[in-house]
Amino acid sequence: MTAIAFSQISGLIKSIAVAVPDQLDCDGCFNLAAEFADAELRGIELPNALNAVQIHLNQCPCCAYEYQALLEAVHAAEDNPDTNPDTNPDTNPGTNSEVNPGL
Ligand SMILES: [Zn+2]
Repeated sequence: MTAIAFSQISGLIKSIAVAVPDQLDCDGCFNLAAEFADAELRGIELPNALNAVQIHLNQCPCCAYEYQALLEAVHAAEDNPDTNPDTNPDTNPGTNSEVNPGL
């Protein structure tokens, strides 16, 4: 009965599988996610390598969630272009022309 169950399962898998196979695993998707987000935000045409990311995102809720988080982070960065975390002059000695020699 195990064999029957297996054939039923594989038949189900075949019926679920979409026409375009998912060529990426999650690691590969993650490695390309930033590039994919960049292309999408710029509105440029996706190269084949990035189409694979789109396919994977459509089929992998985990990566889709990670990608949404990435997009939100990118948007947040774009919303605050003037944000400069480098407020400590000690980290940027080259630009500190007004040193205080009197001390
Ligand atoms: Zn994934």
